[in-house]
Amino acid sequence: MTRPDSPTAPAAPPASLAPPDAVNLLDLELPELEELLARLGHKPFRARQLWQWLWQKNAATFEEMTNLSKDLRAQLAAAAAIRPPRIADARASSDGTVKLLLRLGDGEVVETVLIPEKDHYTQCLSTQAGCAMGCTFCSTGRMGLVRNMTMAEIVGQVLVGRRRLAETGVALPLRNLVFMGMGEPLMNTRELLRALRTLNHPLGLDFSPRRMTVSTCGLPAGMRELGASGLASLAVSLHAPTQELRAQLMPAAAKVPLHELIDALKDYPLKNRQRITFEYILLKGVNDTPEHARQLVRLLSHLKCKINLIAFNAPRDGSGPYQAPGPERILAFEKALWDKNITVILRKSKGADIAAACGQLRTEHKTGRADPKT
Ligand code: SF4
Repeated sequence: MTRPDSPTAPAAPPASLAPPDAVNLLDLELPELEELLARLGHKPFRARQLWQWLWQKNAATFEEMTNLSKDLRAQLAAAAAIRPPRIADARASSDGTVKLLLRLGDGEVVETVLIPEKDHYTQCLSTQAGCAMGCTFCSTGRMGLVRNMTMAEIVGQVLVGRRRLAETGVALPLRNLVFMGMGEPLMNTRELLRALRTLNHPLGLDFSPRRMTVSTCGLPAGMRELGASGLASLAVSLHAPTQELRAQLMPAAAKVPLHELIDALKDYPLKNRQRITFEYILLKGVNDTPEHARQLVRLLSHLKCKINLIAFNAPRDGSGPYQAPGPERILAFEKALWDKNITVILRKSKGADIAAACGQLRTEHKTGRADPKT
């Protein structure tokens, strides 16, 4: 674990001198930034320059923005601030996974995870502090909802993640974003869509919709909005092939009956070669039998989809009712789906040595169980 105030920790950006109620520029979409600069007497192209400093050049202070006039920089310093989340704790796994615990402006903490792939990194982002969905296999679900995150807090995770990779000498680019961290993204649709538009903007971070995936328990109204935006791919946390079992595992999600969810997905707008992803966490003896595999095939056989199978990543203290199945059971489940022509990707659980599953690190901090020597 690296604590930010340790001698080896990367330097944190300098604190802003702006008043506490100053507008956080990371909370503005480009048209809103143009409006702000117009009120300060500047032309729209200045907003675009500022936007590039914020999102492309990772500027932490106004002094760095050398193509803006001194007058404008002084105006900004008096009226605005750049406030990304701050790293409260960082852990690096032996497999290259990095988990960051981030402190928000009001002291609340959320998690983000940087996951190494063959030639790039994927970042897992949070959209809420806590979560109201109550999934029984998830540490975040057990803490309940604290509040929605703002656009600045959602997209700020990417700025912090990118800076962290650069400062620790990681050469692989951050290429994919998955909204699978703390929270149900479609319970915070307004800020989620603002964040996706900002992430997608060609003068900013320029993430293509193909490289952003939003994972939801399956809330039809939010799925319709996301589908209409075309800004990200859709992943649905399924985890059970029947309504009865799903209601046990995911109490809040069970308010949407499984047949209604599947009907809504049949109408989901997909581009060429795009498919809906289903997430299925395998829980030993709960949802991993041959009969569950057969039920899953029947449920999904008429959808353009693929399944991500993930073995449960158990809390390090062994708490909770679930265990991961053994490798034989996992492979048998995977084969049963392939045999019926369902595309399956077996995802390895990464970062098991650093409590990388959703909510585990935050829970350890809240309960004082974090091990400072890790
Ligand atoms: S799995 Fe996702 S939706 Fe379910 S409780 Fe955890 S954070 Fe919320």
